[in-house]
Amino acid sequence: MDNRKTVLITGGAGFLGSHLCDRFIGEGFRVIAMDNLITGDLRNLEHLFKLPQFEFYHHDVSKFVHIPGDLDYILHFASPASPIDYLKIPIQTLKVGSLGTHNLLGLARAKKARLLIASTSEVYGDPTVHPQTEEYYGNVNTVGPRGVYDEAKRFQEAITMAYHTFHGLETRIVRIFNTYGPRMRLNDGRVLPAFIGQALRGEDLTVFGDGSQTRSFCYVDDLVEGIYRLLFSDYSGPVNIGNPSEITIREFADEIIKLTGTKQKVVYQPLPKDDPKQRQPDISKAKKILGWEPRVGRAEGLRLTYDYFKSLPRDLLFAREHKDFKPYNR
Ligand code: NAD
Ligand code: UDP
Repeated sequence: MDNRKTVLITGGAGFLGSHLCDRFIGEGFRVIAMDNLITGDLRNLEHLFKLPQFEFYHHDVSKFVHIPGDLDYILHFASPASPIDYLKIPIQTLKVGSLGTHNLLGLARAKKARLLIASTSEVYGDPTVHPQTEEYYGNVNTVGPRGVYDEAKRFQEAITMAYHTFHGLETRIVRIFNTYGPRMRLNDGRVLPAFIGQALRGEDLTVFGDGSQTRSFCYVDDLVEGIYRLLFSDYSGPVNIGNPSEITIREFADEIIKLTGTKQKVVYQPLPKDDPKQRQPDISKAKKILGWEPRVGRAEGLRLTYDYFKSLPRDLLFAREHKDFKPYNR
């Protein structure tokens, strides 16, 4: 008789979902990964398929979700996450954050499972408070191009909290700040794979705007540790998880140029509409409640990530899935 606890991880074939699958398998759980593969890749999970305690369901969570048997925990990570992805599939993005979350809340209720949702620093929009604390309500343009993602995530938080207060469901909300690491999709358009991909292909690095906008990048292992601690804490309010080390995108391009040794230069392109000008997590709450703080510095994290991208087959490096896609203000 298998008495392992069972965890369902939606978006399990994606970047973060697959790392979470690894962590929970490593901790002795039975893991069910669910994904419709819209932005994910089964190669991220290939090494787990041989394990009897791992299962994969190919399913769109915006449709009714059924899991036979017991379920102890649900981690809802299904959602396009890169701006280019969610601009290409805006309706699916709105649906997975709203209908998908509703389905998983219903499943959690039926199974008496605890649900953790992947929210985002995007709920703060283009923030007027810096660094961002969980108490800040945000500055989101509901009808702007990024609204499809930001508002889906804000609704996701609201309905999750409503199930918690109204139905007494055990819920957790993590607000994730820009996270990077191995298994990001090389061509997903996010800044780190964009710059490293350009360096590896011998192209110039495209900085949007004047590059003075800031981000704070967290290495994936640190994020996974924070999520793991949050799931097993007793705190149901939103918690920021991210690395407060803030950098401008222009400086970030210089770090990638140094790391990769590319001879290419930086070229400037127009800043996409509503691109947040600054972003840095205030992690006091995570420190206090979870005893968590990031451990991997950018130099080490970028080196590990670069090693991963270098190891990819060349056809992936030259697959230009977004080649003909016009970013939202051009
Ligand atoms: P990703 O694109 O690599 O992974 C998302 C996964 O969800 C993919 O495998 C995709 O196929 C799957 N998916 C999308 N819609 C689905 C649906 N309707 N049904 C089933 N599966 C579906 O992105 P990621 O970076 O791993 O992000 C994972 C989660 O974390 C997302 O919810 C995202 O909003 C959140 N998040 C990520 C970051 C980050 O920096 N990576 C920051 C904030 C929030
Ligand atoms: N960016 C850039 N060049 C690129 C891709 C992104 O300068 O090729 C910028 C983008 O405009 C934003 C920052 O890098 O200011 C982070 O973008 P990303 O898409 O990674 O995530 P965001 O934090 O905006 O959701």
